[in-house]
Amino acid sequence: MQQTVLRPDRWQRIREFAKDKATPFVVIDLDTIRQRYRDMADAFPYAGIYYAVKANPDAAIIRCLDELGASFDIASVYELRKLLSLGISPARMSYGNTIKKSADIEFAHQQGITLFASDCESDIRNLAKYAPGSQVYIRVLTEGSETADWPLSRKFGCQADMAIELILLAQELGLEPHGISFHVGSQQRDIATWDAAIAKVRFIFDRLAESGISLEMINMGGGMPANYAPRQHDLAAYGTAIRRFLDEDFGDAVPQVLIEPGRSLVGEAGVLVSEVVQVSRKSQDALDRWVYLDVGLFGGMIETLGEAIKYPLAWDREGEGVEDVIIAGPTCDSLDIMYQDHRYALPDTLQEGDRLYWLSTGAYTTSYSSIEFNGFPPLQSYVIGEEGDL
Ligand SMILES: *Cc1c(COP(=O)(O)O)cnc(C)c1O
Repeated sequence: MQQTVLRPDRWQRIREFAKDKATPFVVIDLDTIRQRYRDMADAFPYAGIYYAVKANPDAAIIRCLDELGASFDIASVYELRKLLSLGISPARMSYGNTIKKSADIEFAHQQGITLFASDCESDIRNLAKYAPGSQVYIRVLTEGSETADWPLSRKFGCQADMAIELILLAQELGLEPHGISFHVGSQQRDIATWDAAIAKVRFIFDRLAESGISLEMINMGGGMPANYAPRQHDLAAYGTAIRRFLDEDFGDAVPQVLIEPGRSLVGEAGVLVSEVVQVSRKSQDALDRWVYLDVGLFGGMIETLGEAIKYPLAWDREGEGVEDVIIAGPTCDSLDIMYQDHRYALPDTLQEGDRLYWLSTGAYTTSYSSIEFNGFPPLQSYVIGEEGDL
């Protein structure tokens, strides 16, 4: 079965590398990340790129993006420590998690972080106390959860009115009001959701200007897509449309723009290699064939929850006939079924020991895999392409 996500030479190199290794594991090709970073920079020449570390915190990926000139969006002191240990300057980090302990704020401040996201009064008060004088940006709620394959919207952010109050409070408490952020939902298929979000930011900028506060920055979060089984626009289409929305709302006074891509930078660089453990039917004449793999929701494929993300799939076995199957993981939890509504058509000769290759699994797989559920180890990850010659 042909894959269409990766350049053929890179796909070949991954297959070659994977050949004699025990499954399951992910192979990350840094050359694909380099290409995606360049595509992103070309599509968004007007934006600073802050890689969302949570998508894949592998040290080799951080180093690679550091060399390319990226900045970083961090969500915890653990990510902060890791980046510091890799020699990344705190000046190139933004603390983007609105949920944080005061001890963590204090630690981040001591380490030199000066840019923080917030979305509520108690956090603003903690920032003023434990990270005095810092730059803050307020995250607002946005629409778009119906068209995002992995929505993020409800948990984070506040209404526009509250964002205005928080900026005023920040100013009063000696913080430096810097801007507004949003995240329209991960793997956002509808580019128009940025239009509504940017219009909301413009409204907030205007209201604050009336109070004599001029904000400088708009952080448009992530949400740009990776290439999965359903179709989506390419990054250039996102960059061009979003530029137009910015121009329409801000004219020639477009503020400093940041983006925080995660999935769209590293997703396509990963191939998760799995093996068929068992193929079965629930009765002699049952219609459905079940295919059980050595990887499942707890081993790195958590984003198949609700069949939200549909990864492109490839396999080795040649053959004419295919049959729709149900695909499930190896653990003793009935939640551990990846796809039963969406049917992948696999060779009808598929057997125990056959390999299935899940494409575009570089984001939110290793970083989500569980520790020792049913004794399964966390998902193994290998990185190739360090020399950067493909
Ligand atoms: C998860 C997250 C991102 C990355 O989102 P993607 O859709 O993977 O690009 C960016 N910013 C924040 C604040 C996040 O929580």
